[in-house]
Amino acid sequence: MKKIHTFGAMLALTLTTSLASAKDEPKITFKATEVGPGIHMLAGQGGFTGGNLGLLVGEDGVVLIDDSMPPFLDILNQAIASITDQPVDFLINTHVHGDHIGNNSAMADGGTHIVAHDNLREHMVSKGVQGPDGMVEAPKSALPVLTFAQQMTFHFNGQPAVAIHVPKAHTDGDALIHFPEANVIHAGDTFFNGMFPFIDLDSGGSVDGFIHAQMTMISMANDQTKIIPGHGPLSNKAELQAAVDMLVDAKNIIAQHIADGKTEAEVLAANPLAKYHDDWNWGFITTERMTKQLYKGLSHDHQHGEHGHEH
Ligand SMILES: [Zn+2]
Repeated sequence: MKKIHTFGAMLALTLTTSLASAKDEPKITFKATEVGPGIHMLAGQGGFTGGNLGLLVGEDGVVLIDDSMPPFLDILNQAIASITDQPVDFLINTHVHGDHIGNNSAMADGGTHIVAHDNLREHMVSKGVQGPDGMVEAPKSALPVLTFAQQMTFHFNGQPAVAIHVPKAHTDGDALIHFPEANVIHAGDTFFNGMFPFIDLDSGGSVDGFIHAQMTMISMANDQTKIIPGHGPLSNKAELQAAVDMLVDAKNIIAQHIADGKTEAEVLAANPLAKYHDDWNWGFITTERMTKQLYKGLSHDHQHGEHGHEH
């Protein structure tokens, strides 16, 4: 729970900062970019609005991918209305974090059906959702009404959209959304573009699962594929490859230190990920925090704990 609280605190702090500065700074909006026929990426500009969203529109219906956070419901609705006058039929939650599912209740109240992986719904029921002052019980309307174990396909607008579960990656309830005809992938938070990734070990994420999710996307991609990352600018296969190359190398470095019997404090003091600092360090996942999450995620205790939990 520690990481979740820390993440929640980060979001709350960012929200407060965004709202406070909204009075005199340029106002926050969602910028829409068409990445395929009828497929749009919605990315916050002017402040932190949570994860990047996806929107599929056409005559058969509207599918939204993730839904930001409560303060941004109005600008989200404005952005959607600027693209389509149709209501949102389905909302896919890529994972359980509050900056991706914050407007679930409002969307459901408007008639949208929420879809997610089985584990995401279980997490919302058992742990609640992010409120203004911490975790609160999830309102029934915020819960997915359709869940899946492996994958499910939406057949709208001549653009099949396949929601694919990738096990134990960023969390244990992640979905990537693949548009095979349009050659577009929404990665959820299995891809932080140009930043160290957050691997939420306390929500069932794992280092190897995260790498596997990225390799899965690379296997689906070619040089023309447009990839919407959970955070960061619109991306492509080459940038995803750079992210997974960094992660695999960082994993091997930390694993070697663990194999050598180094304590976490000794590894932090040695700062073996220093070579990646300039390109990948950011406010939430600093080089130190990246080192810590790899150490924890790769250490025997953690892996043993997960193993025990499974049985
Ligand atoms: Zn996340």
